[in-house]
Amino acid sequence: MLGLMQSQQLLISTLIEFAARHHGDAEVISRRVEGDIHRSNYRHLAARSRQVGNALDRWNLGFGDRVATLAWNGYRHMELYYGVSGSGRVIHTLNPRLHPDQIVWIANHAEDQVLCFDLSFLPIVQAVHSRCRTIKRFIALCDEDRLPKDSGIPGLLSYEAWIGAESSIYEWPDFEENCASSMCYTSGTTGNPKGVLYSHRSTVLHAMASALPDALDVSARDAILPVVPMFHVNAWGLPYSAAITGAKLVFPGPAMDGKSIYELMESEKVNYAAGVPTVWQMLLSHVQANKLRFGTLTRTLIGGSACPPAMIRAFHDDYGVEVLHGWGMTEISPLGTVCTLKNKHLSLGSDEQLKLRAKQGRSLYGVDMKIVDGDGQELPWDGVACGDLLVKGPWVASEYYKGDGGPILVDGWFPTGDVANIDADGYMQITDRSKDVIKSGGEWISSIDVENIAMAHPGVAMAACIGIKHPKWDERPIIAVMKKQDAELSREALLAFYEGKIAKWQIPDDVVFVDAIPLGGTGKMQKSRLREMLKDYRLP
Ligand code: ADP
Repeated sequence: MLGLMQSQQLLISTLIEFAARHHGDAEVISRRVEGDIHRSNYRHLAARSRQVGNALDRWNLGFGDRVATLAWNGYRHMELYYGVSGSGRVIHTLNPRLHPDQIVWIANHAEDQVLCFDLSFLPIVQAVHSRCRTIKRFIALCDEDRLPKDSGIPGLLSYEAWIGAESSIYEWPDFEENCASSMCYTSGTTGNPKGVLYSHRSTVLHAMASALPDALDVSARDAILPVVPMFHVNAWGLPYSAAITGAKLVFPGPAMDGKSIYELMESEKVNYAAGVPTVWQMLLSHVQANKLRFGTLTRTLIGGSACPPAMIRAFHDDYGVEVLHGWGMTEISPLGTVCTLKNKHLSLGSDEQLKLRAKQGRSLYGVDMKIVDGDGQELPWDGVACGDLLVKGPWVASEYYKGDGGPILVDGWFPTGDVANIDADGYMQITDRSKDVIKSGGEWISSIDVENIAMAHPGVAMAACIGIKHPKWDERPIIAVMKKQDAELSREALLAFYEGKIAKWQIPDDVVFVDAIPLGGTGKMQKSRLREMLKDYRLP
């Protein structure tokens, strides 16, 4: 017997129409490439998304065809999110920080038909357009009077002229919710980029689950600043979860330095922000150096790589800002776990709470997880046993675009490539990526643990731990350190700082001071490039 409830496909167009109807005047603020602050709201944004739908229909762009973007976080990018997916095409967010050759490779692999780009990326488009075999149309995300003359890009149109010619009345098509909606290639810290293809259903379910109080806790009372780029796993889904809750959105555009982010937070009364640890390191440095306070910020979501406990403590103790530590991957849409306390933890002392908050957290409803040993046997949830982390659920990838890499699931579970433990309360803690674990004398050393201790030293701006081949122990850890400006820090002082904080055999064998730690396209430390930089290094 079937239930007698209405049947409605879970489509992305319903998110923006809900926002327009129920939260029409909730603001969407953007710092633009032009430098000014642009003010919009869900009502306008929905209207312009419909114009995008009409414009794509006018071109007879096929159902499921890819429309690529090279764009910062901003209202036009968000209009494309809704206009492209809602009209049945697939939005493909390209990462402008990748090497141009990689962008060409990815655009050709995805067979993108249209490319919409912010003017700051004009030089990239000029360098790649002739090699992008399938892209037939180019749109500059700007007003008509800003359209570059003689760009050399065939048929270049301005976004405003393109959608300006269209009606804002549009009937979103109704189709099967499992159809593809959006596409993002993994940032390639491991091997070749691979295409992850989200569906309308996975996106809507992810938006609903991620907005819940024990997940990202998004509501109509929030003013959210996603620093995490919209080209990096859809800014962790915030453009969708904000729409279904009516949260105000504040987009930083290209200005992601500490000063610009701080000023935007203050002027737009942002209470909630989201980004990778390296971004918050810049923000904290700016606020500390200039003795500033946050007027409205009370929460910040940090993920993408491990958030050092020292950062959680600094935000909490010095600024009264709660850090939400989250874990996810491009293949998981991206949210898998968020670290929020349970009722029984409220009476814990602040040190105990900090220890818990530094973990990657508990599963959202919808994501199941387990850890297994080398033989695939499930390991206990005792907070000690470490193993390969696998996940499954309706917003977890089942395979990569075009089947690249072959079948990826193991008995229906997606292997994340992370190594983790899970405690009896279900809190997961990543100890490493499997390829970064340091194997010393048959034991594992967590590079994240070693980094977190260095990060707690006041003279350290950034630290990355890697394993170096060792004739006796197989591998030994060393720590590469970028010092804070003007900090006095010696090798000996940092090694002494480890005493008592970690087992003696886990203390790095050496400290290597570097001018900069290489960062990848999404702001994460790139250990592969660091290993390359240090390939001639020898242990003392
Ligand atoms: P890529 O796999 O190309 O680096 P992703 O952005 O999908 O791109 O990265 C996912 C990976 O980032 C995870 O598998 C994990 O190793 C790491 N990661 C994400 N969030 C955290 C976190 N909070 N703590 C530790 N590692 C994290």
